[in-house]
Amino acid sequence: MQHEEHALSQPLYLQPASLEEALAALAARRLTVLAGGTDFYPARVGRPIAEDILDITRLAALRGIAQEADGWRLGALTTWSELVAQPLPPLFDGLKRAAREVGGVQTQNAGTLAGNLCNASPAADGIPALLALSTQVELASVRGVRCVPLAQFVLGSRATACGRDELVSAIRVPPHAADARSTFLKLGARRYLVISVVMVAATLETGHDGRVTRAALAIGACSPVAQRLPALEQRLVGQPRSAALAQVPQGNDLDVLAPISDVRGTAAYRRDAGLTLVRRALAALADD
Ligand SMILES: Cc1cc2nc3c(=O)[nH]c(=O)nc-3n(C[C@H](O)[C@H](O)[C@H](O)COP(=O)(O)OP(=O)(O)OC[C@H]3O[C@@H](n4cnc5c(N)ncnc54)[C@H](O)[C@@H]3O)c2cc1C
Repeated sequence: MQHEEHALSQPLYLQPASLEEALAALAARRLTVLAGGTDFYPARVGRPIAEDILDITRLAALRGIAQEADGWRLGALTTWSELVAQPLPPLFDGLKRAAREVGGVQTQNAGTLAGNLCNASPAADGIPALLALSTQVELASVRGVRCVPLAQFVLGSRATACGRDELVSAIRVPPHAADARSTFLKLGARRYLVISVVMVAATLETGHDGRVTRAALAIGACSPVAQRLPALEQRLVGQPRSAALAQVPQGNDLDVLAPISDVRGTAAYRRDAGLTLVRRALAALADD
């Protein structure tokens, strides 16, 4: 009897093979989504898993990177390693640089882009890199599909706009100019396998006259949610793409941030390092 009661209280583990099945299951009961598990399992060390699980790793509809009429579609289950291995235009150089910074290769082989967004850590390396690509998050449920700008998807530390019955199905990158290129710089206490103190992602587009037509800059680990720097982005437009771009950012461009002081660095250090990384990112893109 005791054994039966124990068996009845076992959490559910669902691993559907179709998106329709997965969405129906999510609509029917509260389930925790499991992708690569690289955030999920470390958050549960030392205690049994008590919640019902929806393992989405068999959902082929959530895989693959494709160029479509309205931009690029990165399937939610795209792993960091798959992204790095895929031939992509220079627009994605920054995201690829971020991918190589997500833990070690084992973590990059299992961890997914959508998992990084949904976990919504202030130190998530993927978030600034994807913010600087002006991405939209595609959410699927039995009610249909909706797209939310990434800046509105991550609501706070560990908080997102993903509904209880929704899955992130893809990340959508809007069309950019053919010459668009991006970069990503991460500062940690050591070179690899480190939680970011600050990270900066930048994307630049340039016109035929060699002047910047569009700039996107994002800083992570300096506020609960990574932030774009709209005032600086505006000032960069019209500037010649040259080493002088690195002189445009000023300290008050980082006023949108709210860095904390912790074991990894003080707020003042984060602000100072953030400005330095923004300048270096622009210098790197000007030089490219
Ligand atoms: C050793 C180690 C080092 C790491 N280093 C870094 C690092 O340097 N930088 C960094 O940014 N991260 C790092 N991480 C964290 C982690 O690897 C990444 O955040 C990874 O991208 C998470 O993806 P996942 O598929 O493993 O997510 P999971 O652990 O499967 O899920 C994470 C969260 O997202 C939800 N979720 C996942 N997919 C979906 C979906 N499609 N729709 C709705 N909800 C979903 C889950 O319910 C869960 O809440 C590290 C992890 C480890 C173990």
